[in-house]
Amino acid sequence: MAGHNPAGAERAAPILPGATIGVFGSGQLGRMMALAGRAMGYRIATFSPDPNSPTGQVADLEVTAPYADLDAVAAFVAQVDVVTFEFENVAAEVAALAEAAGKPVRPAGTVLHTAQQRLREKQFLAQAGLPVAAFRAVASAAELTAALAEIGCPAVLKTAAFGYDGKGQVKIGRPQDAAPAWEQMGGQPAILEAFVHFSHELSVVAARGVDGAFAHYGAIENQHVNHILDLSIAPARVPAPTAAAAVELARAVLEKLDVVGVLCVEFFAAEDGRLLINELAPRPHNSGHLTIEAALTSQFEQQVRAVCGLPLGSTELLRPAAMANLLGDLWAAGEPDWARAYAHPAVKVHLYGKREPRPGRKMGHLTALSGSVEDAVGTVLSARAALTRR
Ligand code: AMP
Repeated sequence: MAGHNPAGAERAAPILPGATIGVFGSGQLGRMMALAGRAMGYRIATFSPDPNSPTGQVADLEVTAPYADLDAVAAFVAQVDVVTFEFENVAAEVAALAEAAGKPVRPAGTVLHTAQQRLREKQFLAQAGLPVAAFRAVASAAELTAALAEIGCPAVLKTAAFGYDGKGQVKIGRPQDAAPAWEQMGGQPAILEAFVHFSHELSVVAARGVDGAFAHYGAIENQHVNHILDLSIAPARVPAPTAAAAVELARAVLEKLDVVGVLCVEFFAAEDGRLLINELAPRPHNSGHLTIEAALTSQFEQQVRAVCGLPLGSTELLRPAAMANLLGDLWAAGEPDWARAYAHPAVKVHLYGKREPRPGRKMGHLTALSGSVEDAVGTVLSARAALTRR
């Protein structure tokens, strides 16, 4: 970004309501950002390979084409005032093309490039002096054996590229499990990480403005099931110094990456007291969905503000909150009974407009607000359980 406009003044001019925000990716993150952006008076255009997408259903314009179709990308970029992403696995050429067309790209393509590949991301974090679990790049079975000897067991083998929600991941409990684990990864470049014995998983959803302003939602506590986020709780039930340290690490990440926009940093709070960064998501994040109701400014409005060069909004947490994901598995015995969730007056139901409820697919979420974190967790879990009670 920097360097395209040496005058600087134009760069700082906010993109105001009435303008069109172009979003690459068309899932639920884009949908919730589009809903926030439209409420604020912006037009939303979305580009992805999928028709009738969660974002497209609520956008002003939905373009359906492969990300590799650079002519279609150029035509899309020509119609928008600013470009952002709701999905980081878009090829870097897409961001480069938009940057070359003179459109602000927020966050910049360099941020996507770093965050879309685990190995690059880990190397960036380690080089920046930020704490991560011990890791080694692994490109062959022999390298895996050598790395395992250095890192020790248990360890986790992950594909270097394009992994999310635990896809492309295998735990290695004993040295003799290395060969089958390598087979399972299909010979793709990988990263071996020390297994972290953690007491909590945390995330910090934060934002950085065009002017470098920083805002954060504090530490959020996350529980995963089968590597997929199941429950998020705010504020996290960790000591205040742990939460404050996580926020400071997140600030360092956003500054060192020179991010404009929302970025989520996921952490392990290890049993030995260390706080380790697991991964980065350079966009609004599932663990931040509870900010829609629980914060003065949602992560989605915050993304619109940051991307459009507006001042960031207050991230004040209004009440303790808990969010439970609704995966396609809930549909196994038919449509969930939505009336049961609505029977809880402090529960909010969000559905993403996806037609096919496949197992593991994120179909929606529930958020409960309450006077205490424990009560919010109890309410959201009982509302979710009620959906499938027969
Ligand atoms: P990831 O796709 O890397 O975010 O991993 C998904 C989930 O797998 C994490 O949220 C953890 O619950 C678990 N996991 C991943 N890496 C590790 C690790 N090095 N040690 C322990 N658990 C891990």
